[in-house]
Order: sequence, then structure tokens, then C-alpha cells
Amino acid sequence: MPATSSADLRDDEDFASAAGRAERQRQCMQMLVVVLASYGVDTLLLLGLAHAGAMDALVAWMFAAAGTAACGLFALLLRLGRSERLSDPFLVVPQMLVHSAIHVGFMFWVPGVGVLFLMMMLLIHGFGAMRVSPLHVVASSVLVAMGVGTVIVFGELHLSLPMGNVAQRALSAAWFALVLARSTLLDLYGAQLRDMLMQRNKTLKAKFEKMHRRATRDGLTGTLSRRSVMELLEQQHRKLELTGQSFAIALLDIDHFKQVNDRFGHPVGDEVLRYFSRRASAEMRTSDRLGRYGGEEFLAVLTATEDESSAHLAAERVRDGVAKHDWSRLAPNLKVTVSLGVAVCRPDESVDQLLARADTALYAAKHAGRDCVRMG
Ligand code: GH3
Ligand code: MG
Ligand code: MG
Repeated sequence: MPATSSADLRDDEDFASAAGRAERQRQCMQMLVVVLASYGVDTLLLLGLAHAGAMDALVAWMFAAAGTAACGLFALLLRLGRSERLSDPFLVVPQMLVHSAIHVGFMFWVPGVGVLFLMMMLLIHGFGAMRVSPLHVVASSVLVAMGVGTVIVFGELHLSLPMGNVAQRALSAAWFALVLARSTLLDLYGAQLRDMLMQRNKTLKAKFEKMHRRATRDGLTGTLSRRSVMELLEQQHRKLELTGQSFAIALLDIDHFKQVNDRFGHPVGDEVLRYFSRRASAEMRTSDRLGRYGGEEFLAVLTATEDESSAHLAAERVRDGVAKHDWSRLAPNLKVTVSLGVAVCRPDESVDQLLARADTALYAAKHAGRDCVRMG
């Protein structure tokens, strides 16, 4: 298999970041199209109001021009990608401020329809709030509230809704309805985003659990991997050093397993390993742990087991359970037994010394004719 060079890895990273950038740009453009469409809707209503005599049509066209220019400017800035490294790569806060400024400007220019622009402020902030951090939202809201507040208090403007005739009143009502509709759509979009995030979190959690299981479990038997059971052993050893509470270990080796493979085939051998793990675990306390030490050899860590008779009893229970299991369900005439070497950890004994004692005891069990327990 060709080795993966660091240049290849860099290429992969570049590709991933380029893909991320492209996706962000796509989202930015989508956002700008929505904003532009919103300006389009308002321009149509303003033209209607101009037609109904609420103001000059120039206001509507200037409003459209201001909105288009702002969206165009941000489209250009976002395309240049300069904001990529900022904490606000979508430039949402500047956009909120610019659009707010446009609306305040029009409030000044045509206070007779000023309440319409005031309504839009709420929408601008609702839209921005979905995309930026709470700190940014609060900061920009305070800024805009202060700006608009100053205009209201000191601007000496007579902000009002166009109410001069039925057409104006109907268009004002339509304006309010459309602001409400857009605000509801924003809420729905927000709820959809939340659902999507929750779903993504669930998937990530499941993936993490799967990866964690793969990393800590033996692929064939589902018991702890050698690395995990050794870590557990080290943990118990540290606990002994700290608290003085001892523990025991047992090395389990299936008897004549080579013959099982030879007589019944490797797949049956694999099944025996799986069933053996289940059966042995079932005979152990829930606080004890079993791990695959290698091949057909397993290591059991018997926690809080400080005397030899308890350790022997626990090992004997496993041996007996395996011997009495009905293995003929896997293959006719199949019999499986296990030999165990057990050792209770002594004070001042290292993990290696403990394992060596259990190994010697296992060797003695094999020597004694197998299917038995020996203490180290
Ligand atoms: P003893 O009673 O002395 O332990 O004899 P044994 O035959 O069990 O021991 P030996 O070390 O001679 O053979 C172990 C066999 O276990 C050899 C190897 O092919 C088999 N084995 C190891 N890992 C696996 C596995 O994952 N699946 C299967 N089917 N066989 C395995
Ligand atoms: Mg064996
Ligand atoms: Mg072996």
C-alpha cells in the first residue's frame, strides 16, 4: 500500500477547508438572496403606498437601490473571502447595522411612513440573532436601540403609519402582516435548525460510542481488548498502592484449542471463543472484568478480591461453568474446558511479577491435566 505523504495530507486538508469555504459562501449568498427578496417585497408595498399618495415614488426606488447596494456590497466582501478568519465570517453584525442604518435613514426622510421602517428593525434583529453569538446580538441590539431611541426622543419626527385613505390603511395592514409572516418563518427556520442540530448531535454520539467500543473492545469476542484490560490492571495496581486494597487476576487458557480448530474448522473455533467469553463473563461478578489477552487466552481482573480462597472460588466457578456448558449445540461432540492460573496481588509486587506468577500457575494447571485451577 503506498504510504500517505505529508503533501497528500496537506492536499486533503486544503480540499476539506476549500469545501467548507465553498459551503459557507453558498450559505452567505443564500442569506443575501433572502434579504434582497425581502427588500423587493417592501419596495412593492412602498410603490403601492406611493400610488396611494402616502409619499413620492422616489422613496420606494431609493429604498430598493439602498437595499440592493447593501446586498451587493456584502456579496462582494463575502466573495473576496476576507471575513473567513473573523469570528463573524458571514459579516452578520455589519449587515444588521447597515440595514438598520438604511431603515433609520428612511425614517428620517419620510417620517409619515416611519413606523413601517421601525417594524422592520425587529425583523432585521430576529434574522441576525440566528446567526451570531449572544454577545454580538446583545451588542448590536444595544447599539441600534440607542440609535433609534435617540432618533425617537430627539429627532422631533412625527413617526406614523400611512393612514390617509383606505388604500394606505390596507397597505399598512399588509406591511404588518408580511412582517409578521417573515418573523414566523424565521421562528420556523430556527426550530428546524435546532432539530437538525439535535439530530446531528445524536448521530455524532452514536458514532463516538461505536468508535469508543471499537477502541476498547476485542473485535471477535466483544470482551475488553488486551490494551484495555491491561489499563484496568494498572488502575487496580495503583489503587492497591494508594488504598492498600488488593485484587486478584486469573489467566484463562482454553484447553487443546488447536484441536478444536483442526477437528471442527476455524469458524467453529471463532464461535467457541465468542461463547466462551460470554459464558466466562456470566460466571463472574459484574465488578470483575474479562479481556482477551491473545489468541485463546484471556485475562480476568477480580476487583476487591484480597484472599486466595475467594480468588480460587471465583476461578473455579468460571471453570465449572465452561465445562458444564452444552457445547454440542455449536458442533456435535464438541467439548470445551479451560485451565486457570490465579494470583492475588501482593503488596510491593509489580504488575509484571503478578502476571508472571499467574502464568506459572496456568502452566501448572496445564501440567496437572488441564480443566483445573492453580494458585500462583
Ligand atoms: P493448550 O491446552 O496447551 O493451551 O493447547 P492449545 O491447543 O489450546 O494451545 P496452542 O497454543 O497450541 O494453540 C492455540 C490455538 O489457538 C492455535 C491458534 O490457531 C488458535 N487461535 C488463536 N487465535 C484464534 C482465533 O482468533 N480464532 C481461532 N479459530 N483460532 C485461534
Ligand atoms: Mg490453549
Ligand atoms: Mg494459549
